Amino acid sequence: MRGGTPTPDVSKLAYGGHTPCVEVRLGGQLKLILDAGSGLRSLGAAMEAERGDSPAEAHLFLSHFHWDHIQGLPFFAPLYSPDWRLTIHSGRPVPEVQAALATQMSHPYFPAAATVRAQLEHRQAGRTGAKIDDLSVLAFALNHPGGSTGYRIDSPYGSIVFATDHEHGDPAGDSRLRLHVQDADILIYDSQYTPAEYEFKKGWGHSTWLEGARLAASAGVKQLILFHHDPERDDDGVSRLEEAAMSVFPNTIAAREGVLTVI
Ligand SMILES: [Zn+2]
Ligand SMILES: [Zn+2]
Repeated sequence: MRGGTPTPDVSKLAYGGHTPCVEVRLGGQLKLILDAGSGLRSLGAAMEAERGDSPAEAHLFLSHFHWDHIQGLPFFAPLYSPDWRLTIHSGRPVPEVQAALATQMSHPYFPAAATVRAQLEHRQAGRTGAKIDDLSVLAFALNHPGGSTGYRIDSPYGSIVFATDHEHGDPAGDSRLRLHVQDADILIYDSQYTPAEYEFKKGWGHSTWLEGARLAASAGVKQLILFHHDPERDDDGVSRLEEAAMSVFPNTIAAREGVLTVI
């Protein structure tokens, strides 16, 4: 949930230092992974342990290809096992996704592409929605340099919106987001900045806790999760930001490494 770069600093370990990677379990089963930040390494190890000797499948949804959102992929153990069937969804055309992911796993960055053994499938996520068993996933564009894709997941257990790497203030982007956020059980929102910090970071593609809290309050959201913490912000700073957001929208938490949120 940390934006930009991993932060394994002692002052930041209470909330955690991994870049964005969210595990979505429905009915006790792993269904989706949202983004492939550095947290994907330990999730992959847990997935391998959980499947034992059985074949398994997983769906990974990528917001975009800024490094903090894909850097865990080369260390994702299921990628190297023929027993995994992995579907990678993105808002971008498939050839573009394949090229972006292959590049980071090629010389001189991390030459491991030739050792991938999983059964891989790529799909472009769209506004018509992807059906995966009893859930549907809608993709929509966010306002971010180079683009980012948000996802709304609807299931019999509830609804989750994943909206990271998004800057508020663009009327079309704001209304598109509001439409997809409406009445969601959980909103995971890019809250990298305080309103004061944002004044110096306009155009950087990120938002504030205040925008997230206002959006959650006005769109009938049940719970807000502040996400994409600034890499400079220590644990006390994230706690202060969490308290400030709670004063506007009480059912708010700041994303924290390994913490399970139950709908
Ligand atoms: Zn990011
Ligand atoms: Zn980004």
